[in-house]
Amino acid sequence: MKTDVLIIGAGAAGLMCAITAGQRGRRVLVLDHANKPGKKILMSGGGRCNFTNLGVTPANYLSANPHFAKSALARYAPADFVALVEKHRIAYHEKELGQLFCDDSSKQIVRMLLDECAAAGVRIETGCAVERVRHREGGFSVATGRGELHAGALVVASGGLSIPSMGATGFGYELARQFGHEVRPTRAGLVPLTLSGKHQERYADLAGVALPAEARSGRQSFRSGLLFTHRGVSGPAILQISSYWQPGEELRLDLLPDRDAAAWLPAQRTARPAAELKTVLADLLPKRLAQRLCELDFGNRPMRQYREPELSTIGARLHDWPLVASGTEGYRTAEVTLGGVDTDGLSSSTMQSKLVPGLYFIGEVVDVTGWLGGYNFQWAWASGHAAGEVV
Ligand SMILES: Cc1cc2nc3c(=O)[nH]c(=O)nc-3n(C[C@H](O)[C@H](O)[C@H](O)COP(=O)(O)OP(=O)(O)OC[C@H]3O[C@@H](n4cnc5c(N)ncnc54)[C@H](O)[C@@H]3O)c2cc1C
Repeated sequence: MKTDVLIIGAGAAGLMCAITAGQRGRRVLVLDHANKPGKKILMSGGGRCNFTNLGVTPANYLSANPHFAKSALARYAPADFVALVEKHRIAYHEKELGQLFCDDSSKQIVRMLLDECAAAGVRIETGCAVERVRHREGGFSVATGRGELHAGALVVASGGLSIPSMGATGFGYELARQFGHEVRPTRAGLVPLTLSGKHQERYADLAGVALPAEARSGRQSFRSGLLFTHRGVSGPAILQISSYWQPGEELRLDLLPDRDAAAWLPAQRTARPAAELKTVLADLLPKRLAQRLCELDFGNRPMRQYREPELSTIGARLHDWPLVASGTEGYRTAEVTLGGVDTDGLSSSTMQSKLVPGLYFIGEVVDVTGWLGGYNFQWAWASGHAAGEVV
């Protein structure tokens, strides 16, 4: 069987690329080994798909080349995807910080993409595994479970390694290497962090405790929710910082990001001299955490017994609490995969390989990873669109 464009992966990037190329009159076939398209879209955003972010900038992405994403992101903006969502009359809302979610269900986004594919004449084959790819004169021959296919252009949109149970494989990386591309080391991103040994024992019984906090690693910081879990820490602030944190590095937490604790504590001592420190701290922190901090570090005496320098040390500590993480929960729960196909080998305007004409890499398989909050889908749409315009 022959087609103009063969896309491997019916996820966010592959479907957007298929729509764009199909609308240009190209014959497009999308293959996926999973039993249905868009599985990650379905599970995204807690079932409501955080499909873009109004504040997208290249600075919201991690890549060995921070300039690579600029061109594609500039040419397919959040407003372009919002226009598509509105055309399909899908109700949506802004949750916070520019994050757009469906009011009802992620299923609507998948339905929209499939309807657009159908209108553009795109064929989608699910449950179809790709066994081998060869480059030949004028295109590619692809051996699949359903026979041999020939295509003028091949687009690899097979995603990263996160959530293997949803069909994630390292296929795209292997294909990239087969064609001489460098693949930058991969690791789990947007993922809960684990604690071990005495560090875990200190917090394990706080599982379920949540608070607003700022998580810092190196020069990067994120202010959002923090959640203690049985195995470590999670919540948006931790997921975000996990993409920047490297094993062995220390994390610092600001547990009172909206207060000046060094000023607040002396004021509390004046106002409530007989109150114990843990009771005072519990005004601003979850009670169990306030108690644990006192046990671990601050002691717990009536406020009048704390001298000024001691209170200022405690205040500073509340804004700079050290946390020693041992690792991450890994690909099993990670939202994304950091690293991937090295952008040096790709054109930033078309996503085409600089080594093999007609070969393209788009979406998460590329070494471009977004923050939490709709940035990863926007990269999938934008890179898929960039390739779809030329493929
Ligand atoms: C739980 C969860 C929630 C998320 N929520 C959000 C969110 O709300 N907002 C956001 O922006 N991002 C979110 N993300 C990240 C986002 O889902 C991904 O960044 C995005 O789906 C990447 O798109 P993609 O098309 O590159 O890859 P994918 O969507 O992963 O698609 C790749 C496709 O390729 C197929 N495939 C893989 N290997 C093969 C093979 N060998 N042969 C054939 N097919 C193959 C897979 O089955 C899959 O369908 C979330 C991720 C997870 C795991």
